[in-house]
Order: sequence, then C-alpha cells, then structure tokens
Amino acid sequence: MDRKKFIKLLAAAPLSFSLMSLTDLDNLSRSFPKSERMPVVFFGHGSPMNALEENEFVQGFHEIGKSLPRPNAILCISAHWYTKGTKVTAMEMPRTIHDFGGFPQELFDVEYPAPGSPDLAKKTQLVLTPELVELDEKWGLDHGTWSVVKHLYPQADIPVVQLSIDYTKPASYHFELGRRLSALRDKGVLVMGSGNIIHNLGKVDFANMHRDNYGYDWAIEAHALFNKWLLTGDYQPLINYEYQGAAVQLAIPSPDHFLPLMYTLGMQKKGESVQLFNDKLMAGSLSMTSLKIS
Ligand code: ZN
Repeated sequence: MDRKKFIKLLAAAPLSFSLMSLTDLDNLSRSFPKSERMPVVFFGHGSPMNALEENEFVQGFHEIGKSLPRPNAILCISAHWYTKGTKVTAMEMPRTIHDFGGFPQELFDVEYPAPGSPDLAKKTQLVLTPELVELDEKWGLDHGTWSVVKHLYPQADIPVVQLSIDYTKPASYHFELGRRLSALRDKGVLVMGSGNIIHNLGKVDFANMHRDNYGYDWAIEAHALFNKWLLTGDYQPLINYEYQGAAVQLAIPSPDHFLPLMYTLGMQKKGESVQLFNDKLMAGSLSMTSLKIS
C-alpha cells in the first residue's frame, strides 16, 4: 500500500487504527517483504495430548510442515480463543497457555517459547480495517496453536501471533475476515486455522478412543457432506451450516472449533485447490480432517 492510499484509509478509519503512524507502516513493510505466496492450512488439532504423542495425526502434521516454504511468521486462528470482538496478540514474548484440565503433568510442563510479532499484529489490524481489532497484551499461545505448531517448527524460532474469534458474529463474517487476511500470504505469513470440523465433545465415545476411523452414523454422514463441499469448492452450505440438517447440527453443536475453517476457506485464491490430510473420524463424534490450500 502506498502512502497516499494509507492516509486515505486513515481518514476513513475509526480511532484504534489512527494510533498507527506512518513510521509504523514503513517498519511493517520492511519486516514483511513481498514473498512467494504461502499456502493456507487448517489443522484438526484433536486432543491436547497430540502435543506429546507420535501418532498418525502428528505424522500428518510433520509431513505438511515439510511441504511448506519456511514462513516469516505465523498467524493462527485457534478455536480456543473465543472472544467478544476480535483481538490479536501483540506482545514480544507470548506465554504458553495450558488451557485444559485432567491431563498428565508433562503436558502442563510443555513450553513453546516462540517470539511474538508486534509488527504482524499491527499488520493484521491494518488488513482487517475497517473492522476494529484490539491489540492484546494478555493472552499468549493456547494449546490450539502450540500443540500443532510445535510439530511444524520444534525450534520455536518463527514468531507466532494469534487472532481471536468473535463469538458474536456469524460464519459469513469469519469467512470475510479470512478473505481480507489473504493479503498476508504474499508477505511470507503462514495463516493457519486450528479447530476440528466435527467436534461434539458431549458425545465422545471414550471406550473407543483408539478405534481406527470410528464415527457414529451421523458423523459419517456429516463427514461425507463436508468433504463433498470442501472438494468441490461449494462453500455456501458450510457458511450456512446451521441449515444443513440433523447430522451437521450434531457435528457442530457449537461453532468454536468449526469457525477457524471459515478463515482458511476465505483465504483461497482463484485456481487453488484443497488437499485433505488426516482425514479420519475418531471416538465417534470427532473428525481430524485437515486441509491445505495452495
Ligand atoms: Zn480444541
């Protein structure tokens, strides 16, 4: 964006945005030079224990990680930061948040000490204008982010920023924010969603946690519909997920784990395709289906 366009935007934008100076903008352009277009990924993150385990899903994370160009920074939309209004982490050193209970101590001992990126936070705020995005100093990295990213970049040497999900808004709004975030792909930023497309924790069959590709009938039906829509690029039924019948309603009893997918799909450019991985059901009422768009 050139200076003239930026000043025009400033005049049109409400207050939080006007705090950004032209010097900030110059700094942003330097920190995020134009790069080859980064793919976009949605990760089904599943159990927090995936942070420690070496199972087939974690293997899938590793393989996708190896297929990606090395990013300048990561922006993650995690199901576990669900807020009123949209926020972006803006601290230099985000803490590792252990936002779960009932897991072994070794999971609470995991630290993922990646730096943050106040520059990327401001850049994110900028590309989402005129939506008001709050620069946050309190959150950090929750397990939706670190349980996956630690497998992609174990050295924790790439800056990571999180964007929250505004729970007051419909899926179409999140899809639209994704569309605007796609500008970051050309700045070497890996934008990733982390959730689970089918996620009904109340119905998890704990006795069958480790049964391969196991889903209830409704989960099998919803999974087939989701994959058909994803692989044909027919995103309207996904955006209008509330109206797709009983199976889909059972798959998405609350949208927190589904909405990160909306951002991912919103970022797709013309001519790009969806590649599924970790495409399995588990414990009756969950799916690990993940996808890469490039
Ligand atoms: Zn989760």
